[in-house]
Amino acid sequence: MFDNPESSDEPTQLALVRQLKFCAGHRLYRHESKCAFFHGHNYRVDIEVVPAAGGREVDVVGRVIDFSMIKRRMLGWLDANWDHAFLVFEEDANALAAVQMVEPTKYFVMPWNPTAENMARYLLEVVAPNVLGDLGVVARRVAVWETDEACAVAIRGGDLAAAPQLAEAVCVDSRS
Ligand SMILES: [Zn+2]
Repeated sequence: MFDNPESSDEPTQLALVRQLKFCAGHRLYRHESKCAFFHGHNYRVDIEVVPAAGGREVDVVGRVIDFSMIKRRMLGWLDANWDHAFLVFEEDANALAAVQMVEPTKYFVMPWNPTAENMARYLLEVVAPNVLGDLGVVARRVAVWETDEACAVAIRGGDLAAAPQLAEAVCVDSRS
């Protein structure tokens, strides 16, 4: 006999994963090797979202959320802020001066060095709560792929319902 799933002590956790792609330039401030040079990546982001109430809560259709909503909100943010932009660490004054000199220019000032780890953290802690917060879902995990072989992962710990502080918007697009 199977156990009644309703009586389980550890109910199933449902989650969705959506893949998002964008291109961006960056350099790693104080990197000891070639990542200190200006260069770019075709980034891939995997974002995992769970119901804000936790567990297996779904809507009347049986969805955690429609996949298209994650795409619309998260890819919308990525397109506006990171796609075809240069990501610069706020302490990297030399790189900031360089990207500000180019016309037209699009750059995004990060509070941390723009490693895949820090980009994943920024998407998880700052962007996702901001753009998904009203949809009844919480981002639990974000992976940022710099190449087909390597990704960094940020995983939400602690209380999923506790919303992190929002950061100021720091994207500059000289054409707008
Ligand atoms: Zn790189």
